[in-house]
Amino acid sequence: MAEHIGHFISGKHEAGSGTRTGPVFNPSTGEEIARCAYADRATLDRAVTAATEAGQRWGRASHATRQSVIFKLRELMIANIDMLAETIGREHGKTTADAKGEIARAIEAIEFATNAPHVTKGEYATNVGGDIDVFSMRVPIGVVGCITPFNFPIMVPAVMTAMAVAVGNGVVWKPSEKVPSAALEFARLWQEAGLPDGVFNVVQGDKEVVDGMLEHPGIAGVSFVGSTTVGEYIYQKGTSHNKRVAAFAGGKNHMVVMPDADLEAAANAFVSAGYGSASQRCMAVSLLLPVGTETAKRLRELVVPKIQALKVGAYDDPAADFGAVISAQSKLAVERAIGDCVDAGGELVIDGRELSVPGHARGYYLGPTLIDHVTWDMEFYKEEVFGPARGIMRAATLDEAIAITNRHAYGNGAVIFTRDGKSAHRFTNEIESGMVGINVPVPLPVGYFNFGGLRRSKFGESHLYGPDAARFYTKLKTVSQRWPEPDQKALPISLAFSGSA
Ligand code: NAD
Repeated sequence: MAEHIGHFISGKHEAGSGTRTGPVFNPSTGEEIARCAYADRATLDRAVTAATEAGQRWGRASHATRQSVIFKLRELMIANIDMLAETIGREHGKTTADAKGEIARAIEAIEFATNAPHVTKGEYATNVGGDIDVFSMRVPIGVVGCITPFNFPIMVPAVMTAMAVAVGNGVVWKPSEKVPSAALEFARLWQEAGLPDGVFNVVQGDKEVVDGMLEHPGIAGVSFVGSTTVGEYIYQKGTSHNKRVAAFAGGKNHMVVMPDADLEAAANAFVSAGYGSASQRCMAVSLLLPVGTETAKRLRELVVPKIQALKVGAYDDPAADFGAVISAQSKLAVERAIGDCVDAGGELVIDGRELSVPGHARGYYLGPTLIDHVTWDMEFYKEEVFGPARGIMRAATLDEAIAITNRHAYGNGAVIFTRDGKSAHRFTNEIESGMVGINVPVPLPVGYFNFGGLRRSKFGESHLYGPDAARFYTKLKTVSQRWPEPDQKALPISLAFSGSA
């Protein structure tokens, strides 16, 4: 019988009172390996109540107490890296090396969360007038609802929840129903780190739970990472229920290569950043955009054999460069996108659709695919393709490359490879993307910088990492105080609007 995956509420695993369940697959084999319980409203209510009650006590705990838990969580993540990588790989399909890379970035976010006391410090001004001092303070918002995508089962949740918890909130987290097991392992590590039961809760499920969270009066703020369509919906619905919402969405990340660039380095960067994790990263390079016909010709000659040499295999095959895509539907969607692009005039340089991995005939594998002469009007270009099919488009000048990149609906990341400082400077200033790389193919910044796209890659004003995240998970109060001398005369009545003098 398939394993049954449930929720984690008030420090306990439970099946919940809901009757709906969904299948969980191992993408490397195509087998259904578990059934995941989907929370009903009563289960969600209990999680929110737990997070409210335990969160209030936790919010009153000293910074030192909270920090000690975050430090311990970091140690436990390191000690459990093999177990976590195995759990991620089995349900996601990414290779063990890739999963460990994800966990390393999760640990980095946890390390940054130990800075919560520093990044939530207020300001203080003395004697602003009439012996009045003014200070600002940041307090927890209450219960934070986290909704996460399948593609980073540990990193994205760690980024969100480490800071949300560190600043004193309770958390209700709904992981992707495609990768529910890592959530339970992560919850167990929080508990082992000493987090009081009820502060961190996991409710499994799909849209129904998400809608319950967006409408729930007990949830003060919602952090979302996922696709653009869902992100926009979550932002609109969440804010209409008076919640603060930060929604980080899809991308189409262009990589501009100038004629003066180190083409060998650029080619390696394109292959790594384009196809890593079967291209299922919001920051994956989606499109190679060489400037000049000669650059395009030489780059294509360089990338083709490198892409053809990539090995696709099961998550636990140490020789595999990348693994299966997440689902049969996802595989089909990428195959369709490739077919439509070719029908619309794209030149299929490498076709990965017929790939089969020995011993895993039912796994959701796609070989690396490359299409040249992609044009702006093709769906393949307009939409995010979340699988290992990448394109080449050509630009005549840097101006044109910047204009093409900025015309796209998404603005997550954009990259330039060049040896010329002036080109890099112009690109940095003129490009409309939240994360910019100069000779760096995946400019996912370190945890102490803010992270977030522009245009349709982000809804809401906050950022996912860095000091902005701490601000998102806290609310600001500004206090004006006067402490008169015991024998000081009372101030006279004055109804005129005035300053504080
Ligand atoms: P998704 O939007 O399908 O799902 C994300 C979450 O929303 C899941 O928990 C899912 O259960 C829930 N959900 C799905 N459909 C919903 C609906 N109709 N109503 C309410 N909730 C719904 O995304 P995914 O396929 O899991 O993840 C891949 C996407 O995430 C890609 O677009 C990728 O670019 C994006 N992503 C963005 C970032 C970023 O920081 N910008 C990071 C990682 C992934």
